[in-house]
Amino acid sequence: MKVYKGTFLDPVELEPFEGYLSVEDGHIAGLDRRAPRSAAVTPLPGIVVPGLIDAHVHLTMSGGLNPVAELEQMGDALLLGRAAGYLKRYLRAGITAVRDLGSRAGSVVGLAQAVAAGHLEGPRVIAAGPVITPTGGHGWKFGLEADGPEGVRRATRAVLKQGSAAVKFMATGGVMTPGVRAGAEMFDEEEMRAGVREAEKRGAVSAAHAQGLAGIKNAVRAGVRTIEHGAFDAWDEEVLELMKHRGTVFVPTLAAPDGILRGEGRVPAFMVEKTRPVAERHRANTLAAYRAGVAVAAGTDAGTPLNTHPNLARELELLASLGMEPGDVLRAATTFAARALGREAELGRIAPGFVADLVALGGDPLATAAAYARPLATVVRGSIWRG
Ligand SMILES: [Zn+2]
Repeated sequence: MKVYKGTFLDPVELEPFEGYLSVEDGHIAGLDRRAPRSAAVTPLPGIVVPGLIDAHVHLTMSGGLNPVAELEQMGDALLLGRAAGYLKRYLRAGITAVRDLGSRAGSVVGLAQAVAAGHLEGPRVIAAGPVITPTGGHGWKFGLEADGPEGVRRATRAVLKQGSAAVKFMATGGVMTPGVRAGAEMFDEEEMRAGVREAEKRGAVSAAHAQGLAGIKNAVRAGVRTIEHGAFDAWDEEVLELMKHRGTVFVPTLAAPDGILRGEGRVPAFMVEKTRPVAERHRANTLAAYRAGVAVAAGTDAGTPLNTHPNLARELELLASLGMEPGDVLRAATTFAARALGREAELGRIAPGFVADLVALGGDPLATAAAYARPLATVVRGSIWRG
């Protein structure tokens, strides 16, 4: 048994607890006011919160000025070697779990398996592998093209066969495929329902890349677990009601347009042209979802232009700047992000039975979101990471 002493902040309780946290088999065994007898005690500095979770990353993309052009030039081994290097940066930033929502072929799935098997040090990776998109749809170059409910069901099974723990469907167009209208519908509701059902019944989480309102509603009605981005149309009461009623998690990825707009003049012009007109609406939609009681989870889309690994602290700063309460910013990166990963029963809380993934912050996250930028120590499955 290991014992840590410190000030622990659970995102549900939101009451700092000063005392001792004991760990057995990598899980939190208990929280006590007094030191348990016959165990060495390790002090943790600052304020200790659950290990942070980024619900949307692309580990095979660099966050350089034109990541898609780069993907076309680099081989799989090089992409994965580079991604393995990013994993340590995530741990250093206190991020102990990520969901990778799209890589060429199945590449990141193997990386996820290497971390799970202990061959590589890193956050746990819930990986989608290739995205599933209609023929010629958003992301087709690196995804799996499928059409009709039968086709989508078959593609989902093919992705699951590779070992994916997440499946991503393209509900609408996007910013990074030239010539594709960003808000346009892609898969229809019936197609996504077939894929979502196949993924979730096999224990994988379903996600929909969804920008325009019609596509978002299609995805939510199809039962998808998370909606990614949601930037293109102003959200109406109907979509807010639908998402709240069904418990759909919203992952706005505010860091993605933030990076593209900061790179104006340097990133491909078509990306800036698609992003600029909708940036304000994207923030308004995120705030509307939050105020309506929709679960908002933190995901960065790290890997997109000027959105480098890791960038979760920036996403949390952006969420806070909208007026999100500090406790809800913490939940966005812990309990709600854990739900996006399908791991809400084991990740994202400081409570008995949860995995002992922790980060000691140098500031108080209930006072300022800047606290996330200063991690002092990371505990992974009960052990302090010494990287
Ligand atoms: Zn993405």
